[in-house]
Amino acid sequence: MIYADNAATTKMSPAAVRAMISVAEECWGNPSSLYEHGQRAKDVLEAARKDVAAVIGADAKEILFTSGGSEADNQAIRSAAALGAKAGKKHIISTAFEHHAVLHTLERLKQEGYEVTLLDVHENGIVRPEEVEAALREDTCLVSIMYANNEIGTIQPIREIGAICRARNVLFHTDAVQAVGHIPVNVAEDCVDLLSASAHKFHGPKGVGFLYARKGVRLTNLIEGGAQERGRRAGTENVPGIAAMAAALKEADGAREANAARLTAVRDRLIAELKTIPHSALNGDAERRLPGNVNFCFEGIEGESLLLLLDDKGIAASSGSACTSGSLDPSHVLLAIGRVHDVAHGSLRLSIGEDITDEQAETIVRSVKEVVEYLRGISPIWRDLTSGKKKFIL
Ligand SMILES: *Cc1c(COP(=O)(O)O)cnc(C)c1O
Repeated sequence: MIYADNAATTKMSPAAVRAMISVAEECWGNPSSLYEHGQRAKDVLEAARKDVAAVIGADAKEILFTSGGSEADNQAIRSAAALGAKAGKKHIISTAFEHHAVLHTLERLKQEGYEVTLLDVHENGIVRPEEVEAALREDTCLVSIMYANNEIGTIQPIREIGAICRARNVLFHTDAVQAVGHIPVNVAEDCVDLLSASAHKFHGPKGVGFLYARKGVRLTNLIEGGAQERGRRAGTENVPGIAAMAAALKEADGAREANAARLTAVRDRLIAELKTIPHSALNGDAERRLPGNVNFCFEGIEGESLLLLLDDKGIAASSGSACTSGSLDPSHVLLAIGRVHDVAHGSLRLSIGEDITDEQAETIVRSVKEVVEYLRGISPIWRDLTSGKKKFIL
């Protein structure tokens, strides 16, 4: 199998697997227990907290372990909203192309009386800092903008936005799930108050992640119970998972520059090759994107068929669109950058991993070209387009 869906999840690294097994076998005590076996688990937990904090330029005390990126997003936004409400501020700024963990939380808050402004991400998939500034109001309590988009890979001007929010004394949250371990992230330099990350996006295990909350930003609990995580997240900690996350992140961060250089070269080759397919378009800015992200629209085809035929050829990729109860909804991200429904349906996301070979990249190009040509050959929409009955958009 050629795995090109690393934005959905990554394979655990050998170091992460080893850390998980060794902690499960040797340090399986409850970190809240006072006897030595419990304290050994506690030591593992705190060492992991230090390691994770160091990678993003935080203090260990500012790291809260969660069940993943979704929980961290929910808790960050809920916390900032609660702080805002206390001060009589109930306006939140975000974007139309956030992950659903953010968008659905914001929907809930709207029902609870908050006002939400979703900023335009423009054709290149990048938020403009001046538009963030212009949207700020006296009653704005939170700006939540993702570090890098999970579908089109575009990297946002987080540092500029962070500086604007800091100057205006508004809390700034960033969903950095696609960024941490892949591109440089530093909470101090970026003026970030709250940041979400997830282990399984950087070769750690699924079901574990973390929330960074700057010292002084009081968190609201989503889960009540024991006093774990300084009383902010109840439940016995997933010590093997957390240790594996820290091992994966240390490794990813150590190899980050070398990995990014290689991935960027392969990515740009894939983009150059796929661009030669007629009536195709790259989604999102060509340069300001994650090293491993390639996302295209091909006019006249359907993303789902493309994926199934690529799967037949042993290639695991993804489409922008999600299949919900039989009806096909095009991706909210592609719609947000202005792709019309028909075009958004014919999308393909290739998120390549560090271990991709040149030969695999060539196989991907050849296969996508073959499959797009085949699908167009049997597509009534393509027939209408080529006969002039319908107008090409791309
Ligand atoms: C995967 C992802 C999430 C969700 O993380 P989980 O750990 O799967 O809950 C949130 N935001 C972004 C941008 C993601 O890519």
